[in-house]
Amino acid sequence: MTLIRKFARAILPAAVHRRIKKLFSVSAAIKPLSIRCCPLCGYEGYFEWFGRPPRIDAQCPKCDSLERHRLFYLSILRSESFINNKEVLHFAAEKQLKKIIQPLSSRYATADLMAPADLTLNIENIDLADNSFDVIVVNHVLEHVNFPAARRELSRVLRPGGVLICSVPQIASWKKTYEPADVDPSENELNFGQYDHIRYFGADFCVLMCEDTGFSLNRTYVAEGKDVITYGLLRGEMIHEFILKE
Ligand SMILES: [Zn+2]
Repeated sequence: MTLIRKFARAILPAAVHRRIKKLFSVSAAIKPLSIRCCPLCGYEGYFEWFGRPPRIDAQCPKCDSLERHRLFYLSILRSESFINNKEVLHFAAEKQLKKIIQPLSSRYATADLMAPADLTLNIENIDLADNSFDVIVVNHVLEHVNFPAARRELSRVLRPGGVLICSVPQIASWKKTYEPADVDPSENELNFGQYDHIRYFGADFCVLMCEDTGFSLNRTYVAEGKDVITYGLLRGEMIHEFILKE
């Protein structure tokens, strides 16, 4: 191998050789690190990389779960479940989570504005009566939409004492959410990590969620410790639970 490397270095132009070396190092960098377990489907083995830039050991090859789906499942598996025998509305429903939430709930509906769902709903202006559901699940939606409108609508549609379970792209070490007014939409990916994201939440996410809504934070479930290794989680990723005042 060393001889081949030496030979390649000798005969290839430096720029081409550098490019090939980079390609090899990228391909080595996405190889799985370790065998993981998927709590959702029971798979044990190597996970696949996912995302841009690629995250290694991110996706279960059997059920397609990502880190946040596995974290969500662990969070409801290990605590008092707000979902059991409750009426649940699930925005932008992930198929892996639908599978576990639907059988636990007494009534379950998916909601989406663009994708097929039980209910076609705009989270900024939800076409449902006040106090319609006990629990709402919203993962990775609030970074796409008018946040003040969405959180007010979520609190309106939840029954008093109801629970909102949600997660967002969030950097806990940022005091404030990053949402500059002057970002051109063509630079969304550069600023927020994805072309259709319009903000990146900071540590103030939970405070903002409680602003003018009647929500209070009940719990934040964090990916930490050995779970990160066993289940292939993203260190520090969070699932938040908010309760609407009675
Ligand atoms: Zn799985």
